[in-house]
Amino acid sequence: MDAIATRLILPEGCSTAPQRPYDPAYDPLVAPNPGEGREYAPTYWIGTAGEPPPDDGPITQDVDVDVAIIGSGFTGLTCAIFLAQEYGIKATVLEANRVSWGCSTRNGGQAQCASGRLKRSQWIERYGLETALRLHREVCDGMQTFKDLIRDIECDPQPGGHLYVAHRPQVMPGLEKEAKVLREVFHYDARILDADTVRREYVDDKETAGAMHEPEGIGIHAGKLAFGYLRRARALGATVHPASPVQGWTTRGGVHYLRTPGGTVRARAVAVATGGYTSPTLHPQLKNRLFPILSNSIVTRPLTAAEIEACNFRTRQVITDTRILRHYYRLMPDGRLQIGSRSAISGNDAPQKKYEQKLIQDMVRKFPALAGIALDYSWWGWVDVSHDMMPRIFQPDPAQSIYYAMGYGGNGVMYSAQAGKRMAALVAGKGKELDLPIFGSALPFPNVREMVEAQAFAPFRRLGQWFLYRWYHLKDDVL
Ligand SMILES: Cc1cc2nc3c(=O)[nH]c(=O)nc-3n(C[C@H](O)[C@H](O)[C@H](O)COP(=O)(O)OP(=O)(O)OC[C@H]3O[C@@H](n4cnc5c(N)ncnc54)[C@H](O)[C@@H]3O)c2cc1C
Repeated sequence: MDAIATRLILPEGCSTAPQRPYDPAYDPLVAPNPGEGREYAPTYWIGTAGEPPPDDGPITQDVDVDVAIIGSGFTGLTCAIFLAQEYGIKATVLEANRVSWGCSTRNGGQAQCASGRLKRSQWIERYGLETALRLHREVCDGMQTFKDLIRDIECDPQPGGHLYVAHRPQVMPGLEKEAKVLREVFHYDARILDADTVRREYVDDKETAGAMHEPEGIGIHAGKLAFGYLRRARALGATVHPASPVQGWTTRGGVHYLRTPGGTVRARAVAVATGGYTSPTLHPQLKNRLFPILSNSIVTRPLTAAEIEACNFRTRQVITDTRILRHYYRLMPDGRLQIGSRSAISGNDAPQKKYEQKLIQDMVRKFPALAGIALDYSWWGWVDVSHDMMPRIFQPDPAQSIYYAMGYGGNGVMYSAQAGKRMAALVAGKGKELDLPIFGSALPFPNVREMVEAQAFAPFRRLGQWFLYRWYHLKDDVL
């Protein structure tokens, strides 16, 4: 690519994003875009990450750039890092609100060796053995990419693996079968633990009926990671512009005109990294391709030594349970408990206290000793679930220099780094060797059969989701 024709000149260290209040009721299926210059969600990560590093301020005039990236979460920032590092392309990152305002500063910080919501055995059913094995290699390669990236970023890593807790005895046979597939087919050393071992050596989650322990899994501080990526991207020459939502997009003569409030960005190539915050009007290639769902997260005050003892929290590893609407939790480095799970269905409902109450009840069912404990943080965010439960890193039209990476379905903390790397290769025209279904096809429209088979979220959007949540609850906890 040619050098950038015009660059926005802003004073070094400028962070001039106009601050508008956080909008707790934001809903990507309703709002035309995620806002402009909005404050961060009140998360533990933002509360404890320290001052956000400098950025390049909002776009304030028309500019010509080679590559624009829309969205400054983990995907957008890592794409900028790899574009600069591997291909010498200094991208211009456009962010609607504050840097990494979306999922990337709201998640549970669990970097798992996964992408999308399907299990390895489901990969085999869907794609066949040979492709499933290659997908496994891609995800393991992603884990390595992630580890390499965080080596120089202070983000409080909690390594050691992932504990996948059976929330009731009926799920153990399925878990044992999956662990066998992981060991024997994928040569991935997953071990089954009985309930006593989990309680004694890991954590006394009162629900546990056993667990699968997998060797890969790292807990990280999501805010420090996002800020680390921001620093790295800018140090490599990318510019990152908060309060610069793309509110209109036209393409003429191979040039993309991205309209932001402060000026139009004319780009030769556009990489879209808007995740669960993608508005239906951003671009026709992305309309109705994702099914954003809400996830809630709470963080308690630091546990006392007696409370840690009562819960027998002997591990700091990342933990999830086997519910379809799973819980994800861990003991943080500062002794707080973080736990998250499903939330409301619409943005308007999300602020209702009953969703937080439900999560507190779930926490107390697992850890009765924590009944009544004060919460220091409570938030929610929109997870980018795709209609077939797998992500895509894709160029939807070979005639147009548009690329996207999204659809990690709640497993994007790790895989967003690999997706950013893969999208950078596509943008640079070096993606020929990317030969997997997640690189070779568009994010699909809803397909009822696949969704039901994957025991995943229905395509019939909000009403269907309401029924499905009740069905999942019955399946998880009653039937
Ligand atoms: C509560 C919660 C818990 C989670 N827990 C985990 C976990 O423990 N482990 C895990 O692996 N994954 C988890 N995830 C998912 C994970 O956080 C995401 O997969 C990942 O952060 C996606 O990053 P991203 O950069 O693709 O998208 P995001 O971080 O969502 O970034 C997208 C950005 O695009 C911006 N944007 C959108 N439209 C425009 C526009 N028109 N113009 C400019 N900018 C725009 C948004 O403002 C946003 O900042 C969780 C998600 C949530 C919500």
